[in-house]
Amino acid sequence: MLRDHGDYRPGNTVAMFCCVIIAFFLRIEFTHAAGKLSRFEESQPHMGTVARIVVYASSPEAAATATRAAFERIRELDSLLSDYQGESELNRVSRESGGPPVKISRDLFQVLSVAQNLSVKSDGAFDVTAGPLVRLWRRARRQRAVPEADRLAAALDLTGFRRLSLDAKRHTAHLVKPGMLLDLGGIAKGYAADEALKTLKRAGIERALVALGGDIAVSHPPPGKTGWTIEIASLNLAGAPKPRARLLENAAVSTSGDAEQFVEIASVRYSHIVDPRTGKALTGRRSVTVVAAQGIDSDALATAISVMDPKEGLKLIDATRSAAAFIVVQGNSGFQTWKSKRWKD
Ligand code: ADP
Ligand code: MG
Repeated sequence: MLRDHGDYRPGNTVAMFCCVIIAFFLRIEFTHAAGKLSRFEESQPHMGTVARIVVYASSPEAAATATRAAFERIRELDSLLSDYQGESELNRVSRESGGPPVKISRDLFQVLSVAQNLSVKSDGAFDVTAGPLVRLWRRARRQRAVPEADRLAAALDLTGFRRLSLDAKRHTAHLVKPGMLLDLGGIAKGYAADEALKTLKRAGIERALVALGGDIAVSHPPPGKTGWTIEIASLNLAGAPKPRARLLENAAVSTSGDAEQFVEIASVRYSHIVDPRTGKALTGRRSVTVVAAQGIDSDALATAISVMDPKEGLKLIDATRSAAAFIVVQGNSGFQTWKSKRWKD
């Protein structure tokens, strides 16, 4: 009632005082709970790289249980999505190429859907049907010889995301031409990092980092911090521009480059990333870093932007919600860098 406004009642003051005291204790309790969190870290080999998990947990037992479940989830995804494991679900779909559509798991369907979406947006620069080309160039790296023209033409003929169809109702994948091969090397690690974070969350861990090689996903920041400090990898060359470390929370970052997997033949450096439209492995030195809300997107976008002309790549990044990118290319006269609109230094 209006009459009550401005009324002085000793009871109100007492109630207010009690509220302040309770709030004060709640705050202490909250700070105390947050203060009890300790940092735990573990690394294991997974998906052809090192998987590193950092968690803030209230006890070593809580950390160990959650981390074990997260590594188990990564292992499970690798057994579905790997092209190195003969019996993976992915290879089963490849073996059925040219046959009828194949019923697939929710995980594989999700990854293939995101991949196909990006293939359309990148005009085929990203293409998970590039398996025959990727294999051919892997062999070239081992033998240190570029593939013969006829083999390249044959592999190119088996590549093309438009010949992979997905049926969301029936949950099937269909590779239209016999001999087609799927390869998720450019997207699976990002998805696995996302899924490992979700597993940690379900186990009660809210503040965590999952790194699978160059693909990193983080949830809430460490206690008392505004984000996870992430060092950004760049070209491992003297004088190459290096972006500043970034503070990230509830986000993912991926770097694609030629730092680890490449071969040099007749003074030309061939990358493990191929252009699915020409069949050629990328040459020259470049490094692409992408920040996105999810690892599946940062991973796939970093691979896609590596193939694309940098300006076109940045257009795609600017059109992707909350994505940002940093590109370094070694040219004839030094290094060139590109930054997307959302890239903050
Ligand atoms: P890394 O595997 O080193 O983290 P990327 O995420 O860039 O690097 O993925 C590279 C892998 O992606 C290759 O080894 C290959 O398996 C696959 N790949 C290569 N070229 C393409 C492409 N144009 N589109 C989709 N996947 C690709
Ligand atoms: Mg990638």
